[in-house]
Amino acid sequence: MKARETEREILKNLQESFVKYYGGTEGARLFFAPGRVNLIGEHTDYNGGHVFPCALTIGTYAMARKRADDRILFYSVNAGGDAPVSYGLEDLEPAGKSGWTMYPLGVVWAFAGRGMRLSSGFEMAIAGNIPAGSGLSSSASLEVLTGFVLKSLYGFDVDGITLAQIGQYSENHYNGMQCGIMDQFASAMGKKDHAIFLDTADLSYTYAPVVLEHKKLVITNSCVKHQLTDSGYNDRRRSCEQAVEALNKVTSIRALGELTPERFEEIRDAIPDEDTRRKAKHAVYENARTIRAVEALKQGDIEAFGRLMNESHVSLRDDYDVSCPEVDILAEEAWNLPGVLGARITGGGFGGCTVAIVEEEHVAGYCERLGTVYKEKTGLEAAFYIVEIGDGPREITPDQSMLP
Ligand code: ADP
Ligand code: MG
Repeated sequence: MKARETEREILKNLQESFVKYYGGTEGARLFFAPGRVNLIGEHTDYNGGHVFPCALTIGTYAMARKRADDRILFYSVNAGGDAPVSYGLEDLEPAGKSGWTMYPLGVVWAFAGRGMRLSSGFEMAIAGNIPAGSGLSSSASLEVLTGFVLKSLYGFDVDGITLAQIGQYSENHYNGMQCGIMDQFASAMGKKDHAIFLDTADLSYTYAPVVLEHKKLVITNSCVKHQLTDSGYNDRRRSCEQAVEALNKVTSIRALGELTPERFEEIRDAIPDEDTRRKAKHAVYENARTIRAVEALKQGDIEAFGRLMNESHVSLRDDYDVSCPEVDILAEEAWNLPGVLGARITGGGFGGCTVAIVEEEHVAGYCERLGTVYKEKTGLEAAFYIVEIGDGPREITPDQSMLP
């Protein structure tokens, strides 16, 4: 099992980079924003459906402080490089920009678009312990982190939901990724030991305690990321929009999340294209499954919750077509292992991770046996993370950190 970098190690690296590139840490502050895992409700968040994610205790850390001039400087310990990337306060438009700094700069741009302009530049170093691009939302964590840094350094009055909306807006319009609100919402609004039952139609939400007595949430990273990630995601979104358009010939809906499976079955033939119909079916059924799963969890029926996770995987594999052979192996093999209550692909798809609920006494065996089978069948090493559910963004006070 791969050990994750601890918070202490990360803060040490972060501080070293900050000193190296920005000279000293005087006046610098430390921040954290979490990644997330979605327990159930996948590809429903841009369909006005329900999702059920939770924030994790892994995420992205920043050390940041204001500057006297108009420069905005970003350095990432994970991305490396021998100098920070530098922008001017007057140069926030996306044209001509590329690379990972598009994420934090997009948030600065989105703040400015809402009238929250920076009075001076700032410098920031970041370091994360989320495996990037694996479906645990390192991007949303970086966006929410940046928003939280701006709010804290410049005193902007923005609440958690607004931070989430700014992050999504910036990822949509600055990075060209048509993601829904789930990832940023989960990061910005996370609560320890709770998952967030969010209705993306109106952003109403409740926290549901995730009581996993003698069970663990285990994330398994396929360590593959297929090229299709962004284009495939945007394509799925378009299919759902086409389905809504077609269904509006026989009913009046704004989003697929408004339909029950029963209603969908009555009117599904209004969607002429078979492929689009299957995509729409997933969005409708997954939404219903999510509502049922949260109900099951509230009643303490983890077994039923786990079965619904498995059904979610099948639907994402067969109807929504966002899985891939490697991730299918991880989910399907997991279903046959002892102590596994449920396992499914999590995140946008086309690679990335599965999430499973595993009896504590079987976790070691799960990692061992799944790792072996995965290696045999794909030649690849899977990575395992036993995760805890954590809070949203926070400032790390000096006595909690390594700072002198
Ligand atoms: P996910 O959100 O599932 O991790 P994405 O493809 O949406 O995957 O986002 C990953 C991208 O976010 C990376 O390619 C990188 O551009 C950016 N990113 C996230 N965390 C960091 C980090 N610590 N340092 C630099 N870039 C990061
Ligand atoms: Mg992302």
